[in-house]
Amino acid sequence: MLDIPMVAADKVDDNGINTLRYMPGRCINCGRCSEVCPHGVFRQGEKRAVLSQPERCMECGACQLNCPTGAVQVESGVGCAAAMIKAALTGSKEVTCGPDCCGR
Ligand code: SF4
Ligand code: SF4
Repeated sequence: MLDIPMVAADKVDDNGINTLRYMPGRCINCGRCSEVCPHGVFRQGEKRAVLSQPERCMECGACQLNCPTGAVQVESGVGCAAAMIKAALTGSKEVTCGPDCCGR
């Protein structure tokens, strides 16, 4: 049997890179965040979601919108929107965050 430690409900994973905040103590492991995230930031773990690649978050807000327990918070609308506007202005077909966007 796996020995998976309990997580306090008020524990916050604040990655310090972007506005994404994850509270694993609230997670019910429904899998929605890993399903909807376009950048693979979350993956499903044994008992709760795992914030595996926070640096890849483009702050689209889909995880927060779909999380039924409020375990994810993010200030949406600052990352990928900039990439889309820049792509539209430059005619680029590459709509991704990167060095020429928000640096992520
Ligand atoms: S805000 Fe978007 S990119 Fe960031 S973790 Fe949530 S779904 Fe993924
Ligand atoms: S959507 Fe929320 S409750 Fe569901 S796995 Fe992700 S963090 Fe946990």
